[in-house]
Amino acid sequence: MKYISTRGRIEPVSFNQAVMMGLASDGGLLLPESIPTFSRDEIDELAKLSYPELAFAVFTRFIGDDIPADDLRRLIQSSYAAFSTELVAPLKEVDGLYIQELFHGPTLAFKDVALQFLGNLFEYLLQRENRSLNIIGATSGDTGSAAIHGIRGKENINIFILHPHGKVSPVQEKQMTSVLDDNVFNLAIEGNFDDGQRVVKEIFADLEFKQRYSLGAVNSINWARIMSQIVYYFSAYSQLPFEDRKDFTVVVPTGNFGNIFAGWMAKQMGLPIKRLLLATNANDILSRFINTGIYATAQAQPTLSPSMDIQRASNFERYLYYLNDCDTKKLEEMMAVFSGSGSLEIGKELFAKVQTDFNATRVDDPATLATIKDIWQKTGYILDPHTATGVCAANRLRDQESKIGTIVCLATAHPAKFPDAVEKAIGQPPLAPPAIAALEDLPCRFDLIKADTDAVKAYVDE
Ligand SMILES: *Cc1c(COP(=O)(O)O)cnc(C)c1O
Repeated sequence: MKYISTRGRIEPVSFNQAVMMGLASDGGLLLPESIPTFSRDEIDELAKLSYPELAFAVFTRFIGDDIPADDLRRLIQSSYAAFSTELVAPLKEVDGLYIQELFHGPTLAFKDVALQFLGNLFEYLLQRENRSLNIIGATSGDTGSAAIHGIRGKENINIFILHPHGKVSPVQEKQMTSVLDDNVFNLAIEGNFDDGQRVVKEIFADLEFKQRYSLGAVNSINWARIMSQIVYYFSAYSQLPFEDRKDFTVVVPTGNFGNIFAGWMAKQMGLPIKRLLLATNANDILSRFINTGIYATAQAQPTLSPSMDIQRASNFERYLYYLNDCDTKKLEEMMAVFSGSGSLEIGKELFAKVQTDFNATRVDDPATLATIKDIWQKTGYILDPHTATGVCAANRLRDQESKIGTIVCLATAHPAKFPDAVEKAIGQPPLAPPAIAALEDLPCRFDLIKADTDAVKAYVDE
């Protein structure tokens, strides 16, 4: 399988090159040349597989023979052995809904599903090509810890993660700084998340430095992350009772459009998803787009679901490319309009298409808290605030339509990662699972550093 850029200005590349490239070198996002499909019979065969076997079946369609089958099996096996349940992404029945728990990886958020695999994949490709890589990124919490846990202890690869000192949650800080492997560097920045991001951007803009240290990124635009996320939509189908499999709706709390784009891909591949319902918090650029056809940024505001506090969805361009029937010229024009004015209107015809692809709802903090409380009172199950935006969206849909059918809500984080929001909702924090309770006593290591590009460069240098 070859990979092309949404901007159409690079020669097609292999899967391996696409993974190492991250962002396409013409500024676009990488996508497979064609979307592989499964017949309904094949999908019912897939439904009999274990999670790693399922991942193998899906991945091979995207990788072709770029990676020998035995090697790929081994990479998948070791990635998902890091999860605390063999199902990897188990479905739970809660209040007439199915909750798909994506938080059984090492950092208890769904980003582990992709980053555990990406870490192993990077190591494998680098060893094969006898190269090394230095990953640099800024985090506000979840992505940084999942990336560190994906890369720790790997050969030929270092990771430098900048987090705002004292401004990430205690659990997130511990999850990052208690990793003492030699290839992990935690930099606590004297500043906020935006300062960290600015520093990382400036470092990447220094092409000489970037090349000298062979810098790379692990952000959500890497194709291997989307590919990894497609698998759990198939896994949800496999776990549904037979009579519920036909035409189910999936509800996805989203910020960067990564998770829901993976669901859209799964549907194009033939999975019989009836509807994809997107939930945003008060940072609602995506739900406004789906309900009005206008994609316009607004000031980002902090909410109880911080991993969705995003006003510029980095994966959105991938969907826009398909919406424009793969017309790279038209897409490039649209992206130029958006980056010039911060706003884009797609017109009637495309808007009609969007509305057949997605439904969307905006869920503010009071509604999020009310949902956590309601589900807890009814069932004893505790939702994390991100997942709660999705469950609230599902409930609104159920109120509107009596015959909605099966609904699967993706649970993106364990509630114990966000104890303050949970306590606000139900008057008590959730019970910490062993992985979080154990963090208390672990020694930590980080280096405090000025939010200054030269200072961070000097650190990497050393
Ligand atoms: C990253 C994250 C999200 C948003 O995922 P997208 O890929 O941006 O859609 C939602 N919930 C949690 C807990 C996250 O960490």
